[in-house]
Amino acid sequence: MAELQLKSVVKTYGNGFKAVHGIDLDVHEGEFMVLVGPSGCAKSTTLRMIAGLETITGGEVRIGNRVVNDLVPGKRGIAMVFQNYALYPHMKVRRNLGFGLQLRGTPKDQINAATNEVSGVLEIEELLDRLPKQLSGGQAQRVALGRALIKQPEVFLFDEPLSNLDAKLRASMRVRITDLHKRLREEGRPATVVYVTHDQVEAMTMGDRICVMKDGYIMQVADPETLYERP
Ligand code: ADP
Ligand code: ADP
Repeated sequence: MAELQLKSVVKTYGNGFKAVHGIDLDVHEGEFMVLVGPSGCAKSTTLRMIAGLETITGGEVRIGNRVVNDLVPGKRGIAMVFQNYALYPHMKVRRNLGFGLQLRGTPKDQINAATNEVSGVLEIEELLDRLPKQLSGGQAQRVALGRALIKQPEVFLFDEPLSNLDAKLRASMRVRITDLHKRLREEGRPATVVYVTHDQVEAMTMGDRICVMKDGYIMQVADPETLYERP
């Protein structure tokens, strides 16, 4: 069964605008699913409904075996990475990384061990005592990635995470995220990902499958090789 399922999901905003028109999508365990499409096609709305940051007007969102429609973000088993990093500005990197576990009541020595592991993987050890304002964009995004990774969520949600980086950093972060996803799979702890972007290169190089959206509908779901074969 799919790790993440959208069933006839609808979003109508408070002003009466119907942004999402009853979409269905299955994302399998360990799959890297990219939502792509032009600005305004409802990628972000869809992701935010999965995250619990936006109410669901109709249909069902399932994560694992649970319908999560009525759960707050913290109870959904998700971790999210945002375009603007959304780090806690007054906390040093170390505390930014550990804060989610601290809220869960994880013991301090376990938080320290997890922090060390994640900072090793993302090569941010030398940044642990800095504040977010002392980080470059690429460094901040690695910390944001670390903050998601440390929570070991069932599903990772990415909202245009590379859009604020320059072209060179974007290219290296694409590779870093894809490699990390592969590595987790090889280590037997596959990460299920929903990754929103308007960048076709990101979609084609990162996605196991790509979900093409337009005007609040899903037009096509396919792997990169077969995506444009259909008429
Ligand atoms: P609800 O939680 O009841 O759905 P909304 O999120 O619709 O409320 O309320 C936010 C307000 O901001 C509304 O008046 C909405 O029209 C407006 N708004 C915010 N973002 C946008 C946008 N991208 N396009 C149009 N209106 C927007
Ligand atoms: P994308 O992420 O693909 O750029 P969005 O999910 O942000 O698209 O927006 C989808 C549609 O919903 C757009 O037409 C947008 O203007 C509209 N929208 C987004 N937020 C709101 C809101 N709070 N109220 C009303 N309309 C909104």
